[in-house]
Amino acid sequence: MACLFCSIVAGDIPSRQVYADEHAIAFLDIGPWKRGHTLVIPRRHVDDVLAADEALTEIAPAIGATARLLTDRLGADGLNMLSSAGPVAGQEVFHLHVHLVPRYAGDPGLRRLFDRDPSIDLDEVYAAITGP
Ligand code: ZN
Repeated sequence: MACLFCSIVAGDIPSRQVYADEHAIAFLDIGPWKRGHTLVIPRRHVDDVLAADEALTEIAPAIGATARLLTDRLGADGLNMLSSAGPVAGQEVFHLHVHLVPRYAGDPGLRRLFDRDPSIDLDEVYAAITGP
C-alpha cells in the first residue's frame, strides 16, 4: 500500500518543504491548525513512535532545528509539539510524524490547538519561512 509521506519524501507528491537533513524532512501541513503548522517526518518509513522509538532520536535534530526556524521566522511566542500513535490517538497518516505548531500571544492555550484555520495562506507562510 502506498504511503503518502513516503511519496512526499521521494518527491512524487509536492510539499512546501522548510527543512531537510540526512534523516528527516519538514514540510507545511496542508490543513494547518495555526500559522506555520509543520510536520517533521523520518525519511525512512516508520508507522509511528511505538513501532520504532529510535526513529524519534533520528529526527530529534530536525525537530529542534525546525522549531527554532519556525519561531524565528514567523515571530511565534511559543510552540506545541505532538505526535499521535494509532487510530485511537487520532493518527491519520501512518508514517511517523511530529506536529510543530507555532503559537501566538493573541491565540493562547491548549483547548484551541486543534481548530483548523482555513484563512491561513500556505504560500505566504512558506515564503515567510524560506524567503530572504
Ligand atoms: Zn511512509
